[in-house]
Amino acid sequence: MPNLMLKFVNLDQQQPHKRSAEERKQDFKEIYQCFSAEQAEVQASRCSQCGVPFCTTKCPLSNYIPDWLKLTAENRLQEAYELSIATSSFPEICGRICPQDRLCEGSCVIEEDFKSVTIGAVEAFITDHAFEQNWVQLIKPLRELSKSVGIIGAGPCGLAAAVVLRKKGYQVHVYDRYDRAGGLLIYGIPTFKLNKNIIVRRQEWLEKSGVIFHFNTDISAQTDHHSFSFDDLRKKHDAILISTGVYKKKEVSLFGSNLNGVVQALDYLIASQTENANSKQFNAKGKKVVVIGGGDTAMDCLRTAIRQGAISVQCLYRRDKANMPGSMREVKNAEEEGVEFIWQAVPDAFIGEEKVESIRAVRTELGLAETGGRQTIKILSNSHFTLQADLVIKALGFDPEPLPNMWNNDELQIHESGRIKLNSYNYMTSIPGVFAGGDIVRGASLVVWAIKDGQDVAEKIAHWLENNLKKSLYPQGKSLNDISFE
Ligand SMILES: Cc1cc2nc3c(=O)[nH]c(=O)nc-3n(C[C@H](O)[C@H](O)[C@H](O)COP(=O)(O)OP(=O)(O)OC[C@H]3O[C@@H](n4cnc5c(N)ncnc54)[C@H](O)[C@@H]3O)c2cc1C
Repeated sequence: MPNLMLKFVNLDQQQPHKRSAEERKQDFKEIYQCFSAEQAEVQASRCSQCGVPFCTTKCPLSNYIPDWLKLTAENRLQEAYELSIATSSFPEICGRICPQDRLCEGSCVIEEDFKSVTIGAVEAFITDHAFEQNWVQLIKPLRELSKSVGIIGAGPCGLAAAVVLRKKGYQVHVYDRYDRAGGLLIYGIPTFKLNKNIIVRRQEWLEKSGVIFHFNTDISAQTDHHSFSFDDLRKKHDAILISTGVYKKKEVSLFGSNLNGVVQALDYLIASQTENANSKQFNAKGKKVVVIGGGDTAMDCLRTAIRQGAISVQCLYRRDKANMPGSMREVKNAEEEGVEFIWQAVPDAFIGEEKVESIRAVRTELGLAETGGRQTIKILSNSHFTLQADLVIKALGFDPEPLPNMWNNDELQIHESGRIKLNSYNYMTSIPGVFAGGDIVRGASLVVWAIKDGQDVAEKIAHWLENNLKKSLYPQGKSLNDISFE
């Protein structure tokens, strides 16, 4: 076969068609169209097949990116699909919402002079196409095993673990307090980034593959008809995975924080995606909206407010654009849609009688970079200014909920921040047979890392179950008590 690759020299990068800002502001549909097979093949052929694929090394899942790009360019799409799912449980999700500019595409060796290969768009195309062609097979384990695993949390971590464990033949039960699977993929990330049908399709696929979901089921300390206690669950299953994510909202306690109209980002986003979308408190229609924060959550709130018909939408962020934690692609999308960014400013007080009417803000100055590489912030004196606002959305990040208290279980060791401590050797918590992964272990992170954790911890769970417990898993001569938890 002639070499179809290395076309970047003559072929320009082309992203999938992006709807115009004017058009996409009118609805909540995904803003990018999917590649056609022809477009995917042409764009995949731009890959330089470099000797050391930095795209793979930068991908948390170590996806075989150059290999499935080559197969795509050669129109061997079913093989491309098989290779793509070899490392990733949900490539069609990562292809849509990974911050590729910071991961695979940002590391592509042709990025500097020629603009990277459009890896994310090709990745999403491959699995979408596989579903269309009926290449996506249900999971059919070689043999059914009697042991069962209870997974608490149906977010990307829990679902990825369910895939791996089900393939091995374990009986998998997933418990979630929400009414459907997906976690933040459903009740967080807006539809204009990720069509919910993609998640529904995966939920149906998992159900047909034998995964048993228990929705509207809160795992708590007490038991009633909508909940199980954590201890009951431990008795019911041979192993437990905690993948409950992080939902405790970070707060700013400023003057006026309790005024009506000052709301939390996730409450706002969840309301916008449920029957509460038209509730007066949360709907941005006809309002002057200010979002505080600079991460993915802030971008999602800003762009939701635009779509709801806000009069103006401003983002107040304490650092500058170069220091923003969110994906630059999403910042650009927000700018195109009419968001105004106010860099290097923080709120000082929320002003109003009962309802917020304005924000008093102050300017910041950036200092030297701290250990994490981000510049420190200093408030500039006498730099006050006022922004009109009828809806203020606080998007300041999340911490883990205090699980040991919630579950009345002081055996479960956690960090000061509330993240669960794990034995880095076998991903087990301080309770034998109880494992953890995703945001509840890492702190607020990315979907791709949650998938990676889910896949990895599932392997550890299977190993532990196969070896029917403990000792064999610890380094020679050590027991559970010798292991420190990180
Ligand atoms: C608004 C927003 C936008 C984001 N955008 C992006 C993005 O564009 N790209 C990206 O890569 N990442 C993004 N992220 C981050 C990403 O969504 C998370 O890192 C990822 O979802 C974490 O997966 P998880 O499975 O650990 O937890 P989650 O997705 O949070 O799932 C946890 C699940 O556990 C359930 N649960 C919790 N406690 C209990 C309990 N006691 N009983 C029963 N069920 C329980 C919850 O209902 C939930 O379904 C975003 C996050 C937010 C908030």
